[in-house]
Amino acid sequence: SWAHVEMGPPDAILGITEAFKRDADPRKMNLGAGAYRTDAGKPYVLSAVRRAEAALLAQGLDKEYQAITGVGAFTRAAAELAYAGAAGDLGRVAVTQTISGTGALRVGGEFLRRFHGGGERTVYVPAPTWGNHAAVFRDCGLKVGQYRYFDAQTNGLALGAMLEDLRALPRGSIVLLHACAHNPTGVDPTAAQWAEIQQAVEAGEHVAFFDMAYQGFASGDADRDAGALRAFVAAGRAPVVLAQSFAKNMGLYGERVGTFSVVGADAQERARIESQLKIIVRPMYSNPPVHGARLAAEVLTNPELRAEWLGEVKGMADRIIAMRAALRARLEDAGSARPWQHITDQIGMFCYTGLTPEQVDRLARDFHVYLTRDGRVSIAGITSGNVQYLAESIHSVTKA
Ligand code: PMP
Repeated sequence: SWAHVEMGPPDAILGITEAFKRDADPRKMNLGAGAYRTDAGKPYVLSAVRRAEAALLAQGLDKEYQAITGVGAFTRAAAELAYAGAAGDLGRVAVTQTISGTGALRVGGEFLRRFHGGGERTVYVPAPTWGNHAAVFRDCGLKVGQYRYFDAQTNGLALGAMLEDLRALPRGSIVLLHACAHNPTGVDPTAAQWAEIQQAVEAGEHVAFFDMAYQGFASGDADRDAGALRAFVAAGRAPVVLAQSFAKNMGLYGERVGTFSVVGADAQERARIESQLKIIVRPMYSNPPVHGARLAAEVLTNPELRAEWLGEVKGMADRIIAMRAALRARLEDAGSARPWQHITDQIGMFCYTGLTPEQVDRLARDFHVYLTRDGRVSIAGITSGNVQYLAESIHSVTKA
């Protein structure tokens, strides 16, 4: 019997969505979910993706299995988007298609558990980090540690503490780095700060495990958002592996499109690594789904669609940036005496507001505004129609 199977706790974000759905007030806002919404509050399928889908349909492709590493046109174009010229012609980069970013982290964790040599088998993640990181890596049989990242006093980067922690890690540790648009804080290092972080990672002979779930979405410029990743690769001093997701920047959430890649020393090393990635993937899910990867490949390799896509990514990033500015301005106009500059300093889909769990509870109870109890707001849920109401609500729960 299965009588010994206990009820597990519900997922924090899904719990918020449930509470939001039950709320009948017309002013209600869901600021929990990490998916882009238009200024009308609607899910957004990118025009470049719609057009790619029409083009694929017209080709009448079959549904045969692809290679274990997925759709070749996709993995090539995805690696090109991530690394550009930083790894040379990509002949030394081993890439496999994955079940979006989460699957990439899982395949990557498996790879590191099996092949990360003499060093410490602990992945160090920032405090705080995306809620799923620890669970994914533990399920790979890795240990999970933390380094300090966020400064609650300034709502910004705790650079000194972060460097101190990175320098104190056992030699050859694995360091997980959010490539851009850090989730949940929205706090990214500047280029100068990245250079110091890079130096600390290299000095410890650590593996840099980049998680890039928002390329293009942070600044609106896909090259700029990959800047830290490319700087590590170009320097060539730290081993670099990458989990890449197209959920956010192409709006392909449920299509589950991503890659895991390892920068090797040369083409021979790449071939050996790729053979092992296949051995990891084969018993896990045999080979990945094709439709989303074909869509992404079409968008990335058709020059017209690529240009349209980059414009749409910039449009999404700009709307987020505009909503940050509007929220801050409305809070200040409402007479809030608290500093809100961090709202506009932070970047990407999420804002770590500094609201306490009690204030978050009051927002839900009294104002029908739902977010996670760590005070994280998904800016994508804000529109020009509800930003004023949100500012008034936040002001109400934060004034002394
Ligand atoms: N890493 C980070 C930091 C994320 O924010 C996300 C998406 N919330 C992911 C990975 C993976 O998402 P997905 O599996 O949908 O690509």
